[in-house]
Amino acid sequence: MVPAATGSRVPFRQGPGVLLALWVVLLTISLSGAAASLRYELAVAIAPGGEISGEATVHGTAPADWPEAVFRLYPAVHGAECLAVTGAWVGGTEVAWESIEPTTVAVSLAANTGDPFSLTVRFAGRIPEFAHTGGYGAYARSDHAIVLSQAYPILAPWDGSWVAYPVLPWGDAVVAEVAAYVVDLTVPSGWIPIASGTETEVSPGRYRIEGENLRELGLVLVHGYEVQTASAGPVEVRSFFRPAHASAGRAALEITVKAIDAYGRRFGPPSFPQLDVVSVPLRLAAGIEYPGLILAGESYYSRYPSDPLFFAMIFAHEVAHQWWYAEVGSDQVAEPWVDEALATYTSGLYFESEGRFSEILRYWETSYAQGRARNKDARIASPLWDFPGGDGYGGIVYSGGALFFHAVRERMGDDAFFHALRCYRDEFRWRMASGADLLALLARESPCPLHDLVAAWLGL
Ligand SMILES: [Zn+2]
Repeated sequence: MVPAATGSRVPFRQGPGVLLALWVVLLTISLSGAAASLRYELAVAIAPGGEISGEATVHGTAPADWPEAVFRLYPAVHGAECLAVTGAWVGGTEVAWESIEPTTVAVSLAANTGDPFSLTVRFAGRIPEFAHTGGYGAYARSDHAIVLSQAYPILAPWDGSWVAYPVLPWGDAVVAEVAAYVVDLTVPSGWIPIASGTETEVSPGRYRIEGENLRELGLVLVHGYEVQTASAGPVEVRSFFRPAHASAGRAALEITVKAIDAYGRRFGPPSFPQLDVVSVPLRLAAGIEYPGLILAGESYYSRYPSDPLFFAMIFAHEVAHQWWYAEVGSDQVAEPWVDEALATYTSGLYFESEGRFSEILRYWETSYAQGRARNKDARIASPLWDFPGGDGYGGIVYSGGALFFHAVRERMGDDAFFHALRCYRDEFRWRMASGADLLALLARESPCPLHDLVAAWLGL
């Protein structure tokens, strides 16, 4: 995610301590457990009035004795009418389920360690109109875009207990394991889906979407859009935009292609075959990442070419998340710096390839100072709940975290630094890494000690 250029200020009405105390049973910090191999079969139908209904069948192997399976329905943070579970089945037999709170549902599942399971959850809701919903507008519809972020039940990760946090109104909420997806999608007439994975029209208004190793299924429906395409090595890049925004759509495509090339040279070739970049209405966020899909706020397209540095930052940052989020996962709530700081620093490699590195370095320095002035208690490695209202979040975690990685790069030298990040990618590909994992790997590959930098910048 890239916070909006103006900085977001969302009212915070409930103390995080109170909120988190209610979740103590579900809360877990460590994410060292191995990912189970998961497969989602989704059938989803979107009606012209914004109604959504569907079934998610999740296949996997229980890593422990599970009396229940915990699913997240992230859009329900805006109200249970947006998305709710209506039934659950295990192997064709209806089972009990309980809504712990609107975004968290426990489904009965008598599975012993090593048992394969196949669990079906039926769901329904209504996608709110963009003008009448809160948050980023990432689960919302307008006359030209229906944004369907996390529009299905997502199995929470398991690491000795279920990893499930309250959904905060700032930052990214999703913590998920990668899975294979097959989707049978029905859309209203005249709309086309753009998704993680590949989309194939099987009959008018009906699409099959498939993808492997997806940390989540990103999905948006658009109406009346234009598309431009280009290649970045093995990756097909498609830029979707409204006809009035053609020059910004072309610029988004060019920046995305150059960023993929720049990161591929440092970290190895991309593992995704296709990347879609789509302009949609968003608020409080300039861009949001999904596997194989980037959503960018259309207000930045309307204003293009004003503020060319920030416009490029949106795509340079979200492309980096294809490596650091989509491929190497982490806990975006307890340790948002692990992917956000690394994605921000990686975005600097795009600017470096354009001969503009000093420009982005100055931006990070200013932004970090502003962030610290707004939130004196939080540090780069602080959890999401230490930024009430989102105050100082982008400046401290993104910009400050990027400056930390720059200090590490200068200490280690380019060869060792980028070798370490290639190792990090290889060792944690399609898994979840912790901050401790990343720091241990940097220390392992560094020709000289890093602990003073880690202490000075991260306070660890
Ligand atoms: Zn981000």
